[in-house]
Amino acid sequence: MPIRLTEEKIRQLLKQHQGQPPQHRLSDPSYVECDVFIAGSGPIGRVFSISATYARTILDWAEKNNKTTPKIVMADIGSKDGKITGGHHKNSIKYQKDIDMFVNVIKGALQPISVPTSDVFQSTLGGTAWTPALEQALVIQGHNPNQKPQMNLKASAVTRTVGGMATHWTCSCPIPNDEERVELHKVIPKLNMDSLLNEAGILLNVHSNEFDDSIRHNLVKKGLTDAFTQFPGRTFQNIPLAAERRSDNKDYVTWTGADTILGKWNDTFDLLTETRVTRVGWEDPLRENKSPVQLALVRDLNTGNDRLIVAKAFIIACGSVPTCQILWNSKISEEVLGQYLTEQSMTFCQVIMKSELISSVDPEDPRVVAHRTNHPNDPLPIPFNDLEPQSMIPYTPEFPWHVQIHRDAFSYGDVGPKADPRTVVDLRFFGKGEVKKENRIFMAPLHGTFNEWKAGVTDIYGMPQVTFEVTRTEADKQRDQRMMKDMTTIANYLGSYLPGSEPQFMASEPGLAMHVTGTFRIGNSADNSVADDQSRVHGIPNLWVGGNGCLPDATASNPTRTSVAIALKGAQSVIDYIAPLL
Ligand SMILES: Cc1cc2nc3c(=O)[nH]c(=O)nc-3n(C[C@H](O)[C@H](O)[C@H](O)COP(=O)(O)OP(=O)(O)OC[C@H]3O[C@@H](n4cnc5c(N)ncnc54)[C@H](O)[C@@H]3O)c2cc1C
Repeated sequence: MPIRLTEEKIRQLLKQHQGQPPQHRLSDPSYVECDVFIAGSGPIGRVFSISATYARTILDWAEKNNKTTPKIVMADIGSKDGKITGGHHKNSIKYQKDIDMFVNVIKGALQPISVPTSDVFQSTLGGTAWTPALEQALVIQGHNPNQKPQMNLKASAVTRTVGGMATHWTCSCPIPNDEERVELHKVIPKLNMDSLLNEAGILLNVHSNEFDDSIRHNLVKKGLTDAFTQFPGRTFQNIPLAAERRSDNKDYVTWTGADTILGKWNDTFDLLTETRVTRVGWEDPLRENKSPVQLALVRDLNTGNDRLIVAKAFIIACGSVPTCQILWNSKISEEVLGQYLTEQSMTFCQVIMKSELISSVDPEDPRVVAHRTNHPNDPLPIPFNDLEPQSMIPYTPEFPWHVQIHRDAFSYGDVGPKADPRTVVDLRFFGKGEVKKENRIFMAPLHGTFNEWKAGVTDIYGMPQVTFEVTRTEADKQRDQRMMKDMTTIANYLGSYLPGSEPQFMASEPGLAMHVTGTFRIGNSADNSVADDQSRVHGIPNLWVGGNGCLPDATASNPTRTSVAIALKGAQSVIDYIAPLL
């Protein structure tokens, strides 16, 4: 049963749990009681995929079984940044008409996690300006004196907004190859996983044929067909996308966000915005980990006031890195937390399509005829509202990488006024990274009294500063090189490199893979994993984790569909746990 708290008890708990000075202000009400508390509003939690997956599954179950609707409270460190709670920002017509503008949204959404301070010296700064002394380092915005640049994941970032990264994601949702699920199948059998992945596809509104009538998509398909006649056995297909053409206007697409996942449940439960989840814990902070978690400590970032959330079940789905910060603050699974981290490598280039491909556009196509009539000065036979190409080459054991040949917002080359964006095609090749225990994040200890929270060990949100220790293995490097060669071969069948977007490894810019996995992996033993097959933290009956951190494998395919699939199983176990308590 949830605990009952008096004002005096709350003050005592806040003091014990966070070392707050006793006079620290409390929110009004100072504690909230609910059935299920979800930290994070990404797709996995509520408002994006993972939180949303948990919330939707629990609410659907209650409705179908005529149960009292469980009271769900969700807290997110970000604000509502769009007209639809948790909606994908790319659904704005502005970005559908000009996809390259969306790169600014992505850049603005990514706050770096760890920035080495070694390169802050500015040789051209006037000598009278303030600058840190020799032995000092900047500690703002992820600047981290402990970060070795060689072991950093420089591109790694957090999106702090209601809806999480699903407010800007590309929506590519392939089903991973069995080779990308070896560890996963030791925890969740293949048959079970296959059906969860299908269910996740439905929840994410995944479709594969929405771009079939795009002229540009068909040009890319033609180019790839020509290429693959040289490589018998290799195949390409449409990217399975969490997206659907709008029924009221086919020129536009509705990209899946947390709102799509929640469906009719969006905006029906309590969402505390700009509220940091600090930790979860017990009435007696010295209590052993093995009993049910009783409370979560959250802070309203607007007022600075703290509040306790008392619940029957707790789900932490704040992304691969912030979830670890909350568990670390809670002294939970400290021995394995953050280890076995993997991140994908990426090679990238952009080509301008061959003129022989452009000339293969059917001049009799009514859309082309209409375009020519309306825009006689346009040298291209492609209507302005023609949708982008969306092709993919799936991972295979012979070519163990995931390939997207498409057009997306985060282009690094300067298409600028010199090239027509309709002729540009992006090639993104995602490589996997071997799983090893030593690849990890670690955090400075934060336990103890308020005064022990020293500057430099917290990030700007007051959570423990994360340091990466990640290197690629020799096998990873060899595979990356083969992937690069494969990309250049295929690119040459499609066109010529856009100046500025020649083939390159992308490991250090925002808007990249954003697919950190393994940090709170699921597994069969508490010795090498944080949670069990149900995503329930080992040894704690009412605490679940959700997100890409659950994935125990080296994957090349985009991970969200798999994380949603795992969350669906987790949500069922939340239901089994709370049903008798409602
Ligand atoms: C440019 C880009 C392209 C991508 N493309 C793809 C793709 O094509 N396919 C794919 O599978 N994936 C893609 N992704 C990744 C995908 O968006 C993530 O896998 C997915 O969003 C993870 O969901 P999540 O709910 O676990 O975490 P997030 O979406 O990160 O949500 C976490 C939530 O937790 C909140 N939070 C963080 N810390 C706290 C705290 N202390 N207290 C309270 N709340 C907190 C955040 O505000 C956020 O709302 C892409 C991401 C980006 C940025």
